[in-house]
Amino acid sequence: MLAGTKSVTTIAENWLTQFERALAVPDDVLLKSLFHADSYWRDLLALTWHIRTVIGFEAILREVKAHVGPAKPTDFGTNPNRTAPRYVTRAGTRAIEAIFSFETAHGRGSGVLRLTPDADNGNALKAWTLLTALDEIKGFEERVGRLRPDGKSYSRDFRGPNWLDLRKAAAEYVDRDPVVLVVGGGQAGLSIAPRLTQLRVDTLIVDREQRIGDNWRNRYHALTLHNEVQVNHLPYMPFPPNWPTYIPKDKLAAWFEAYVESMEINYWPATEFEGGAYDEREERWSVVLRRADGTKREMHPRHVVMATGVSGIPNLPDISAWRNFAGKILHSSQYQDGEAWRGKSALVIGTGNSGHDIAQDLYASGAKVTLVQRSSTLIVNIEPSAQLPYALYGEGPPLEDCDLITTSIPLPLAKRSHILLTKQARNLDRELLDGLERVGFKLDFGEDGTGWQFKYLTHGGGYYFNVGCSDLIVEGAIGLVQFSDIADFVADGAKMRTGATLAADLIVLATGYKGQESVVRKLFGEDIAARVGPIWGFGDGQELRNMFTRTAQPGLWFIAGSLAQCRIYSKYLGLQIQACEVGLLPRIGTLPDAPGNCGSLNVNPARLPALSS
Ligand SMILES: Cc1cc2nc3c(=O)[nH]c(=O)nc-3n(C[C@H](O)[C@H](O)[C@H](O)COP(=O)(O)OP(=O)(O)OC[C@H]3O[C@@H](n4cnc5c(N)ncnc54)[C@H](O)[C@@H]3O)c2cc1C
Repeated sequence: MLAGTKSVTTIAENWLTQFERALAVPDDVLLKSLFHADSYWRDLLALTWHIRTVIGFEAILREVKAHVGPAKPTDFGTNPNRTAPRYVTRAGTRAIEAIFSFETAHGRGSGVLRLTPDADNGNALKAWTLLTALDEIKGFEERVGRLRPDGKSYSRDFRGPNWLDLRKAAAEYVDRDPVVLVVGGGQAGLSIAPRLTQLRVDTLIVDREQRIGDNWRNRYHALTLHNEVQVNHLPYMPFPPNWPTYIPKDKLAAWFEAYVESMEINYWPATEFEGGAYDEREERWSVVLRRADGTKREMHPRHVVMATGVSGIPNLPDISAWRNFAGKILHSSQYQDGEAWRGKSALVIGTGNSGHDIAQDLYASGAKVTLVQRSSTLIVNIEPSAQLPYALYGEGPPLEDCDLITTSIPLPLAKRSHILLTKQARNLDRELLDGLERVGFKLDFGEDGTGWQFKYLTHGGGYYFNVGCSDLIVEGAIGLVQFSDIADFVADGAKMRTGATLAADLIVLATGYKGQESVVRKLFGEDIAARVGPIWGFGDGQELRNMFTRTAQPGLWFIAGSLAQCRIYSKYLGLQIQACEVGLLPRIGTLPDAPGNCGSLNVNPARLPALSS
């Protein structure tokens, strides 16, 4: 027992009381005594108006002191309505973990505190990690629960418009433009739009697909989600409890349609966003939308949120390599079904999730398939190995608490945790991995052994969740060659360096997509792309670059990632846009982080037009 006889709640409460006392002065000595030298503080808007991680108590002290004045945090305490303080093991370290609540001058927030003993200081319990996260801005709370719309505006005037009339008018945008235009109506767009709508920020999603959910519907026949259902909920409306563990694509697509309807999201399908320019003086965009009938609509939103996912621009390797090939060439984004290739031969180039899934689909359709490996790949069995990082979501705490706990793990500890999980997965999957190596498959386990999730967060791919294709490769039912063993592509297939020809009627390029930077360059031009810089991945920093946060381009925002990431971070993205609209926050992310920039209460509620109540 780390903490003697005191209850963990009392210990956490004591720490929070001391912390609040130290902030109020601020008292450097007391503050320092509360943190380990190698501690972490992650703030999601609550004190700094940024998403940032500060490492080490010297830096924490400096940053806390810089922001505590305008933020005025008070009322720290554990929250009886949330998971009670308890002992946990995170990233291999045992700690007391306590969820708490607090207030600031402009909002209410939640946090997570982790305490571990300091062996050099009589085992005094000090903060190892601290998260402070903004939940809501005072006076601009979400219209949920007690604050839900009362419906009087469409039910008392018997001659006036009813709810349906108002919904239709709101979604048509005949005589107004939205404040926020969300480009892309997949999970990222569907996470941010309802958040903004609840925050009374007028929001429209546009998507070039014909029908809501087509981004899933049009994927391959057998697709089910890779993560378990309890991890994948969209905001506000969880999947029903009788849903299968792995949601089939068409079921998810249908849910997207129901979700848009139910959450009253303004959504224009079959509408392509063709690009935009920013008017610095007017502080708004001029964007062009092309509708299904070919007509164009110019709009002037103050914010554009890019939620275009990875489906922007296919990454096609040097086309000249295939110029002599007489068969059909498809990028993985164009592949839908293997039926047409029954009895034919196919080469699938690329060994990420898409390459493996397409190879398996072709094989199941009766094609002779060879997978072509270009670089080493991480393989992990879908169950139980790929689910290990999400164990928390099956342990009992409510979704809201799981999300907060997930958010509270700073990057270095997330890496440490994933190194441990990757080792565990390698042991669990040993038989499969040995088999793959025997047939010449080149494996890796991510940088420093951090596993698939860090491959996703840094490169957006480079791994496969095995749902059977790896077993088929080990058995030899699906062939495997290395790209480096191919000398050239000829009319009837691939000419190997050995001189043999690998016959093919079809080549599928499962070679991924270009990064978001290319999409920004195409839609907004070189200047804005250069101003924004790299998107996704961490670079030298502690947070994903340009994701869910203000960018150097006023009014331009990005959201992407897994369903869980979109659910979690859409909340903070929504709050930032709301804060800009009410005058709490400048719209640019690279202004000096002076407290005055973030904390001045120049509130302008008139900029939040009332939606139908
Ligand atoms: C087999 C498989 C299983 C998976 N399982 C999971 C899982 O369990 N959990 C999970 O979190 N993720 C899972 N994923 C990953 C998931 O597919 C992607 O993460 C997800 O599609 C990304 O969502 P998104 O909204 O960012 O992008 P997308 O779903 O790609 O949506 C982007 C949308 O933007 C639109 N768009 C793009 N450009 C424009 C434009 N110029 N104008 C208008 N519209 C535009 C597109 O039409 C598209 O509908 C899985 C993927 C696969 C293939």
